[in-house]
Amino acid sequence: MSKAIVFKFGGASVKDAESIKNLFNILFKRLQTPMILVISAMGKTTNAIEEILKTKLNQEDYSLKCAIIKDQHLNVCESLFPKEHEIFEKVAFQFEMLLKELHKPLDKENYDEFYDQVIVFGELVSTLIIQAYFSYRGVSSTWLDARDLISTNSEFRFAKVNWTSTQTKINEILKPIAEKSLVVTQGFIGKDTLGKSTTLGREGSDFTASILAYCLDASAVTIWKDVEGVLNADPKKFKKTTKFEELDYHEAAELTYYGASVIHPKTIKPLANKNIPLFVKSFLRPDGSGTKIHQVAKANTVPCIVLKEAQILVTFKVTDFTFINEQHMHLVYSELEKLKLKVNLLQTSAISISIVIDEQLFKLEKLILSLNSAFQIKYNTDLNLITIKNPTSKMIKKMMQNKAVLMEQITRTTFQIVYKTLG
Ligand code: ASP
Ligand code: MG
Repeated sequence: MSKAIVFKFGGASVKDAESIKNLFNILFKRLQTPMILVISAMGKTTNAIEEILKTKLNQEDYSLKCAIIKDQHLNVCESLFPKEHEIFEKVAFQFEMLLKELHKPLDKENYDEFYDQVIVFGELVSTLIIQAYFSYRGVSSTWLDARDLISTNSEFRFAKVNWTSTQTKINEILKPIAEKSLVVTQGFIGKDTLGKSTTLGREGSDFTASILAYCLDASAVTIWKDVEGVLNADPKKFKKTTKFEELDYHEAAELTYYGASVIHPKTIKPLANKNIPLFVKSFLRPDGSGTKIHQVAKANTVPCIVLKEAQILVTFKVTDFTFINEQHMHLVYSELEKLKLKVNLLQTSAISISIVIDEQLFKLEKLILSLNSAFQIKYNTDLNLITIKNPTSKMIKKMMQNKAVLMEQITRTTFQIVYKTLG
């Protein structure tokens, strides 16, 4: 039996009927057994469902927003299938289930759990449509619910994988099917021990592809993107970019940590542990070489720029004439851990700790509430964080222009600033 390969297609690669036809062509030329396809929700569906959740939280009417998403999916089906095809009923059924979940009570306290029960529909419906389209075009495949494969704990929205149970389920459910048939499944979603839906964090489908590859001992993973591969800066935000032909696992992992959105941060580790290469390729130019992420002996010296938006700078100042010590650090970090907030940048002074974190619903207010008896707290929102790995002095100078810089940090290899855009 040959080794499996795993392909992951993100939202942009399935955003409309044309994109789905393009996906089919890419796949058709590369069909092999075993082969697993991990496919995201279509286009910006996950964002749109998040909007519905916000509307519901504000106790406003969300029915129009739901109807719009449903129509978008049905319109795609109209372009792909004949009128009487069974997919129309299947899609309508998924949206009924979505509405049923949405009608349940929601408040700040159960937000994360509620979110996961609702957000999964984006992936479920997109994979149902795509799998049906393969059959319609004569390629037989099996649709699997990824929640039956990926076991997690109950940390809703940021669930942790139970690797032992996931490996067992993959051996028992996925392996036998994949030996006979192409498998279409979802990324991002899993299930806890009580059978509740969970998710692995936004953009987590890359991670799912990597989990499946690890448990299957796959020969490779390919992530199909709207860029040529891994570039040294986001081409949507920076004019001049260069593509890496290859990149070491460590280097790639580090860039994702700083916020490079090309791959989900958790993707690399399982692959590196089993030496499974990860290819990042363009679904617009599928024959291009892309980038191969694997073990590379030579260190990269090309400057890389990563921009992270929607950042908050929070400063905790001691008020009792003591200096910052380990206990203060512990206090702040344990609260961050409880809120599952990752520190993107840290700076301490004699009397204060400053951290940069992602903007996340309710999190800042919870953080302040729990720590304002111990510190005087100040914060700034709407900030950007730029990281340059291997910077030149010219780049640093240029980066500082036209920005109100609130924090700056430089190490041997990395330059970082937190700023507000002027004007
Ligand atoms: N659809 C989910 C998201 O947009 C998961 C993914 O695309 O990776 O975050
Ligand atoms: Mg997505």
